[in-house]
Amino acid sequence: MKIAILPGDGIGPEIVGQAQRVLDVLRDDGLAISYDTAPIGGAGCDAAQDPLPPATLALARAADAILMGAVGGPRYDTLPRPMRPEQGLLRIRRELGLFANLRPALLYPELAAASSLKAEVVSGLDLLIVRELTGDIYFGQPRGRRRNAEGADEGFDTMHYSVPEIERIARVGFEAARKRSGRLCSVDKANVLDTSILWRETVTRLAADYADVALTHMYVDNAAMQLVKNPKQFDVIVTGNLFGDILSDEASMLAGSIGMLPSASLDANGKGLYEPIHGAAPDIAGRDLANPLATILSLAMMFRHTFAHADVAQRIEGSVRSVLRRGLRTGDIALPGEAVVGTRAMGDAVIAALRSS
Ligand code: NAD
Repeated sequence: MKIAILPGDGIGPEIVGQAQRVLDVLRDDGLAISYDTAPIGGAGCDAAQDPLPPATLALARAADAILMGAVGGPRYDTLPRPMRPEQGLLRIRRELGLFANLRPALLYPELAAASSLKAEVVSGLDLLIVRELTGDIYFGQPRGRRRNAEGADEGFDTMHYSVPEIERIARVGFEAARKRSGRLCSVDKANVLDTSILWRETVTRLAADYADVALTHMYVDNAAMQLVKNPKQFDVIVTGNLFGDILSDEASMLAGSIGMLPSASLDANGKGLYEPIHGAAPDIAGRDLANPLATILSLAMMFRHTFAHADVAQRIEGSVRSVLRRGLRTGDIALPGEAVVGTRAMGDAVIAALRSS
């Protein structure tokens, strides 16, 4: 199990440092794990004038899985676009063909009060958003700016999906639903967009291969509403890049804190890049304030999806659950008045729980 570790910027090195300690415990227990570290994002610019230095890409290509922290920070905001930290992330996704983004939104019962929704609406929430990551309006051509016939400046982008692109992400959705409760909701805008009409036709046709999965369709505007009205109606949602970007951020807030949620971005063979959904949090970087649990839970996803070690994934998730049950809270998940621990102490608690599991 060869892992490339890309800490990135801001709180990235701190949170990834705690996940690395989890890997060390698992290695001591006899798992054949090796890892190497390389810079990405702003750290890549600092080290090699490139947000995705060639040596980092080579390490990521050679690895079986990648663990990333987060990229970005005010220091890099004024750099020209190709040098911006997020370009490193977009490029590594594209270079490695990481087309399937899995974003679970799971509300731990211990954190029900941290959600902005009423406990009865969100308690027991456990949904998975499968978002296509390498196509759609983010990559469609042509795009740009021009002057129109009336002499006004305009901007334009192209929404675009081919049938093979829709099929491969839909299959990820069907397979995921099959392993869960057997319900898949495909989200589109087929009442308005040609791309979405093709999307819906393609997903509907594929459903014949998955007779055990109950497929429904929903327009994206309704899905946005239903996610806050009655989120527990969903099990797996599959959708395109643009709609998934927005809906997955919305869903993450149902679960309380951004500091709790992991994600996976997979290629066609199950190789993946695993990262917390939050950013580099420059406002709290270097101060032992960041919640490392989303990064540690991203490792659990790595063991489940790339290494097919569901037992190890459950062990890591169980350790996180047990520290939450014991009442340990970083600032982002603490209620007013609750005692707060730092990044390192939260890591210590997870390690202790892991060792005794
Ligand atoms: P952010 O997710 O970094 O922070 C939003 C808020 O959540 C901040 O108040 C932050 O302190 C808090 N927060 C985030 N993660 C936390 C954690 N683990 N524990 C406790 N609190 C946490 O989003 P932002 O402020 O919009 O962006 C900051 C930088 O991160 C920007 O440069 C942005 O481009 C970048 N970013 C990177 C990624 C990524 O690497 N995948 C994603 C989003 C934003």
